[in-house]
Amino acid sequence: MKPDDKSDVYIIDLGGPDPELEALREAVGRIFELTGTRVADKDVLVKPNILAPVPPEMHVTTSPTLVKAVVDVVKDLHGHPYVGDNPGGVERNSLHTAEVTGIARASGGHFRNLSEEVVEVETSCRFTDKFVVSRFILEADVVVNLPVFKTHMLTTLTGAVKNCFGYIAGTNKARLHLAAFSRGRFAEMLLDIYELRVPDLHIVDALYFMDGNGPTHGRPRPLGRLIAGRDGLAVDAVLTRMMGLDPMQVRLFQKAAEREEQGKKPLGRFRPEEIRVMDGEGRPVEVEPIPDFLLPSTIGVSIEEQAELLVELGSLTPVVDEDLCVMCGDCAENCPPEAITLDPYPVVDASKCISCFCCAELCTEGAMEVPSGRATGLFDRMFRQSEGGQGS
Ligand code: SF4
Ligand code: SF4
Repeated sequence: MKPDDKSDVYIIDLGGPDPELEALREAVGRIFELTGTRVADKDVLVKPNILAPVPPEMHVTTSPTLVKAVVDVVKDLHGHPYVGDNPGGVERNSLHTAEVTGIARASGGHFRNLSEEVVEVETSCRFTDKFVVSRFILEADVVVNLPVFKTHMLTTLTGAVKNCFGYIAGTNKARLHLAAFSRGRFAEMLLDIYELRVPDLHIVDALYFMDGNGPTHGRPRPLGRLIAGRDGLAVDAVLTRMMGLDPMQVRLFQKAAEREEQGKKPLGRFRPEEIRVMDGEGRPVEVEPIPDFLLPSTIGVSIEEQAELLVELGSLTPVVDEDLCVMCGDCAENCPPEAITLDPYPVVDASKCISCFCCAELCTEGAMEVPSGRATGLFDRMFRQSEGGQGS
């Protein structure tokens, strides 16, 4: 990254949220061309978001048509594609999740179970001395990251950087949630994970985006766009502005700025003046906030802030909706501090809960409800009325 240069982000309009495969191939080919991404004779990991075994119509996971378009373009450019991700949750079967989401089929025989072979990588991260990472990720010559544009109850946005949490295999995700249990710590750790293997290209699936309480049970809405660039932080900053937020209101960018102050290598640019935003023809465009974008109800509520306001306003401990719960036990199995017991429905021990919202994220039934910071008045106190933003 040249220190005096800007990062380019492209907003490609597909004219609707369900384009034909050929239109997506054309758009993806154009993105490779605009970004100068070369893949000939290279092993190319196509890294979608395969969070949970839910059908593509929920728009939780990357569009299978987009995955197919990227695989096709890589092959057309004489690259050797393979597709994979580590799903959320403990020991969740990667192939099964990819089959339910339509991504295994879209991969056209190029799917790989990333969880099969893992390596331990030493890190200077403050919260762990090693990351357990899929070997195929580290061995790829080129990584093409395919996040979905979604909100996230813990991280506010799940985009290019957050999608790289999928580098971490199996049970280790829960261990890291526990080790970096606040929003600030988790954001700092996400940057450390992103740094393990900074992707070469990011193409964000914004054919549909999700607002509200993402990343699983928010509100899918049509947009019909791809947001792309080689700098993941710049791409995420543009998504954040589309959400109607200033990037510096979000922990990820606050931590990225802290890294710079500490003299660490910058991982990307995120301030508006550092980013050039263009359309598919390379013409400058303005970043327009999406009308009526619904932010997560948890926004503005960090663990640190909760500690101060718990007594007055109550905590953000999830509660189960027994009408929706099928008593599968996934939430208990995936709760990092083991705060959930089944009796027979899940019961959360508030004294152990770290408000990571993994239970809500991974419950395929949408049965784990997250109390709203807004409902308690916390949202107004900590976000709207605060100068200089919030603790996302
Ligand atoms: S809340 Fe969801 S994940 Fe937990 S037991 Fe019920 S259905 Fe399963
Ligand atoms: S109960 Fe849910 S929000 Fe609380 S620590 Fe467990 S997984 Fe995280």
